[in-house]
Amino acid sequence: MEYLDLTPYTYTDSALPMTSIGWLGSEHGVQGPAGAPLAGTELEELRGASRRICNVALGFHTCEFCGTVEGNGEYRYYLPDERTYAAPAMILHYVDTHAYRPPRQFLEGLGAAARPRWDRRADFLRAVLLDRTADLIWRAEAAVDLSQWDDRRAFDALRQVLADDLLIDCGGDEIGRSLIAFAERDYAAGLDWDALPPMVLDGIAHPGDDLHFVRPVGPDA
Ligand SMILES: [Zn+2]
Repeated sequence: MEYLDLTPYTYTDSALPMTSIGWLGSEHGVQGPAGAPLAGTELEELRGASRRICNVALGFHTCEFCGTVEGNGEYRYYLPDERTYAAPAMILHYVDTHAYRPPRQFLEGLGAAARPRWDRRADFLRAVLLDRTADLIWRAEAAVDLSQWDDRRAFDALRQVLADDLLIDCGGDEIGRSLIAFAERDYAAGLDWDALPPMVLDGIAHPGDDLHFVRPVGPDA
């Protein structure tokens, strides 16, 4: 899939409106200014804010520039300008290998995106997660994204859905990976980690599994 930077995100239906970043392809080429590859603080901030992959699809997308790497899923960035940006998991490959430079307004907010402040987007995602009538995929994605907020309200919502068998069957591993983000907080001390559902424990045991969604193209792929 290829979209121009800063256009409305339309790749899939999403609970929140989002803005496209880094959906590069052969039609528009490597977007952004040439000859100014990301380095130093900007690169560190992009890596730091690219935390969890969600919205994994059925198929992998091969890089249209080198053909040697393929990716699946996307990162979401909650920037302080109140825009939510969605980028393919391949964005880090495009930056590292093809000198892609995302737009300035995106880069400027990245430092704060690593730890966003609780806002109406967080409130909305919490409501989606807790709403048993909402789309299950949206709820599972909300469980992933809520871990970006270092806030008790996110933890409490995740804890509340542990009894929701349908959601646990669909995204229990992701809920486990989200719970880890709060493990050091005082308010998480009351959680009986050993008694969590097996799917949730599986996610906790494999915190980095989602990173396998960017991989070399090979005969086993
Ligand atoms: Zn490539």
